[in-house]
Amino acid sequence: MNSAIFLDRDGTINVDKGSLYRIEDFEFLPGAKEALSLLTGAGYRLVIVTNQSGVARGCYGEDDVRTLHDWLRKTLALEKIYVDGIYYCPHHPEAQVKAYRVKCGCRKPGLDLFYRAASELGLDIDRSIAVGDKARDLQICAHSACAGYLLGAGEIFLSALSALPASVRRAADLLAAAKDIIQ
Ligand SMILES: [Zn+2]
Repeated sequence: MNSAIFLDRDGTINVDKGSLYRIEDFEFLPGAKEALSLLTGAGYRLVIVTNQSGVARGCYGEDDVRTLHDWLRKTLALEKIYVDGIYYCPHHPEAQVKAYRVKCGCRKPGLDLFYRAASELGLDIDRSIAVGDKARDLQICAHSACAGYLLGAGEIFLSALSALPASVRRAADLLAAAKDIIQ
């Protein structure tokens, strides 16, 4: 079984622009590609797990999400960075688009996408690491031995009642986290 880095997308790999679905609006954060290169070079599988409630809100469609993700994989592959999987949740409990109005288990902090990725890609969650700029990206750390990095000034409390485990570290950005992971 493989160890993976579970990466959040918006605000972790690329600039969080809210309703992002156009390729021309996708902007890598400084150091993000270098970070992914370091992690892949260290033998980690790269898996992106992202909430895309813009689908549920009717801002863009799943086709747009897939087109953007195909482009992202190809763009990174040009630099020998291979993303093993990109998993997204299109739902929201208060969605405008009825088909996506569901209280699902895949929208983070839900863990379904992590478990699905682990099953499909043969990943050992307990030997993996989650990285994200929000506490909801790291909820897997509270339910497994998965390590975690909270980027930037992200709030450590998921809610008033649930804090992240002490195993979650802080890092300024994805590159700082990657350097800490591979050292
Ligand atoms: Zn979902």
